[in-house]
Amino acid sequence: MAEIILQNIIKRFGDLVAVNDLTLYIKDREFLVLLGPSGCGKTTTLRCISGLEIVDEGKILIDGKDVTTIRASHRDIAFVFQLYALYPILTAYNNIAFPLKAQKYDKEKIREEVNKVAELLQIKHVLHKKPKELSGGDMQKVALGRAIVRRPKAFLLDEPIGTLDAKFREEMRIELKKLCIDIGATTVYVTHDQVEAMSMGDRIAIMNMGVLQQIGTPYEIYTKPENLFIANFIGSPGMNFINCEPSRDSNGKLVLKLLSDNMYISITNKLQNTLLSKIYEDKKLVLGIRPEDVTFSMRKEKNYLDVKVYVIEETGSYNIVDVSLGVEKIKVRTIPTIKPDIGEAAFVGFDMERISIFDKETGNSII
Ligand code: ATP
Repeated sequence: MAEIILQNIIKRFGDLVAVNDLTLYIKDREFLVLLGPSGCGKTTTLRCISGLEIVDEGKILIDGKDVTTIRASHRDIAFVFQLYALYPILTAYNNIAFPLKAQKYDKEKIREEVNKVAELLQIKHVLHKKPKELSGGDMQKVALGRAIVRRPKAFLLDEPIGTLDAKFREEMRIELKKLCIDIGATTVYVTHDQVEAMSMGDRIAIMNMGVLQQIGTPYEIYTKPENLFIANFIGSPGMNFINCEPSRDSNGKLVLKLLSDNMYISITNKLQNTLLSKIYEDKKLVLGIRPEDVTFSMRKEKNYLDVKVYVIEETGSYNIVDVSLGVEKIKVRTIPTIKPDIGEAAFVGFDMERISIFDKETGNSII
């Protein structure tokens, strides 16, 4: 398999910069997910790696070899699209065998390789069927089989399970990930579905408007978003955002003052030191905290803030209690038995070890 390096690539379509100065280092055997909203440049990036698009600037290296201007067919990479793109008149067996026949493998070798792949994908029982007789999942597996059978250096997968129904997508997520581990493939996987990205990726690269916003493991991206875009995009329900500014309490200690109300949040010594070295006192900040890092209580406790219950969203396994904190609304994740009355006064506490703080002006994370 292969490592893939993108160095400052730029791809334009007329005046539109679809991929803007993208640098990525994809490790050998890594499963890297490209994630981002529609139109952010994911597919274009993948097409540039495959050679279906030629970059306007920058370099692409596969296994140390500069392939920037090399045609797609000479890059030894397999591309699987969302659409199955199988040959309708060929059986599943012949669809998978097709690339080997094109490379003039002998019949016995073809049979051996197709059977190996079919076993891996658990589709031996449908090899005699034509695409129209297959389920969506099996069609996708056949398309994957056709990509795998060539044993390419890397797999590029563009929303390969995007059209399947929700239950089946869950199953295919697991199977695809296991398959890529088993064959030790370097994989670049495009999706706009964050659950898919988080559950499958070794690392995730998140793009917005052609620009890479952050790359990291699912844990890093979830717990340390580098800007407000990432913080907002990842997590369901999303991160709570509270407008605030640095202030001093009566003892001269640095605290955060909520802009919507006359409330103050105490911060840890570590956070005080970080903030002191990075901000000036009139800076506008946004405090970010995930719903599961907020504690809900009907009793006032030390450093808890006064809130009013706004609405309760039940999911069965947990509840989301939406509360009003001054004029801001925040979501608190609780156990499912917590069901306060709407409009009831309550209190919330923040796990200050797990907050994020952003510069409101730039949107970038300060801590
Ligand atoms: P989606 O999730 O909707 O597929 P994406 O993140 O994959 O989106 P791209 O398909 O890479 O985004 O498109 C990035 C931008 O480039 C979009 O604004 C798109 O309209 C534009 N674009 C892509 N291909 C072309 C093309 N061949 N000609 C002109 N514009 C294009």
